[in-house]
Amino acid sequence: MRAEWAKAKRLVVKIGSSLLVDGASGALKADWLGSLCDDIAKLRRDGKEVIVVSSGAIALGRNVLKLPKGPLKLEDSQAAAAVGQIDLAHAYEDAFRARGLIAAQVLLTLGDTEERRRYLNARNTMTTLLSLGAVPVVNENDTVATSEIRYGDNDRLAARVASMMSADCLVLLSDVDGFYTAPPGSAPGAKRLEEVRDITPEIEAMAGDVGSELSRGGMVTKIEAAKIAVAGGTHMAIASGKVLNPLQALAEPGGCTWFLAHADPVTARKRWIAGTLEPKGAVIVDKGAAEALSRGKSLLPAGVTRIEGAFERGDAVVIKNGEGAELGRGLAAYDHEDARRILGRKSGELPEILGYRGDPELIHRDDMVLHRRG
Ligand code: GLU
Repeated sequence: MRAEWAKAKRLVVKIGSSLLVDGASGALKADWLGSLCDDIAKLRRDGKEVIVVSSGAIALGRNVLKLPKGPLKLEDSQAAAAVGQIDLAHAYEDAFRARGLIAAQVLLTLGDTEERRRYLNARNTMTTLLSLGAVPVVNENDTVATSEIRYGDNDRLAARVASMMSADCLVLLSDVDGFYTAPPGSAPGAKRLEEVRDITPEIEAMAGDVGSELSRGGMVTKIEAAKIAVAGGTHMAIASGKVLNPLQALAEPGGCTWFLAHADPVTARKRWIAGTLEPKGAVIVDKGAAEALSRGKSLLPAGVTRIEGAFERGDAVVIKNGEGAELGRGLAAYDHEDARRILGRKSGELPEILGYRGDPELIHRDDMVLHRRG
């Protein structure tokens, strides 16, 4: 078994529509879903956390609404998703419940993973669901997402979810069993690659478009997904879901393509916080807090003496000591106005000052990178 898969603690599994929904009848393939959920239950027993990103809402709903075959207008696909998502969620709920697991429906729009404040919210909710033992089943909120603000395909959505959740592996299960040197079928000598260490322009050029009627994502979106995943420190596999127990098959050698990340998700996330995000303000901390940070603690409002700049919840801020030296950077759990109201205050006092129950930390240690000691 590949070490990436064996060692992974947190997995995201993306299910393409054509696996779940029969193209001719539009019915849900219950046996296949059952076998997938058996695999997920096994992974959970092995101590792994699993997040599912599932397509299928449009494919299920279009059949119920008797919409014509072929590409749909945006309004029709949104209507189909509104109908089909109910069936999809029920199908997962039933299949997981039969295996002693709890399904949690999470519908995301592009902004939930791109916009800082909502990103923190989505990440927190999904982390809570995992810690409570539920299996998040994610789809795009197709009904409200119009063309400019939608992912449109679940390959990229799954990659965003994987990097947002610092997952170790992302598996794209669909009707293609890997990444080929040329579109299989159209080019006779096309070979499946076992692993891709760097997504070079050559690799990108190999991605012809092998989509199927039901799923939007062809190879091009899968390569886009791979870029997002590996940048976030997540290894990504393209594997066939056309077999029963598709995740068990993935554990066997060969048989799929792995896109390998060069850093682990925590390192990649810290690099993103440290370097990619433009800081929107600063928090000045006292000696005690600086000391606590260097011992790996989160930053509590009690240790903050001053706030600079205008930032939103989820924005990057610089952490400075009393002399103005930069200690590190992190994502603020409060906007600048609330942060000013709670600075110097004990965490227990916050709900009364704010009028709501927010995070006890101003910057959580998972959202922080330190450059130097206090
Ligand atoms: N969100 C769409 C659905 O559930 C699927 C998009 C895709 O196939 O990538 O039907």
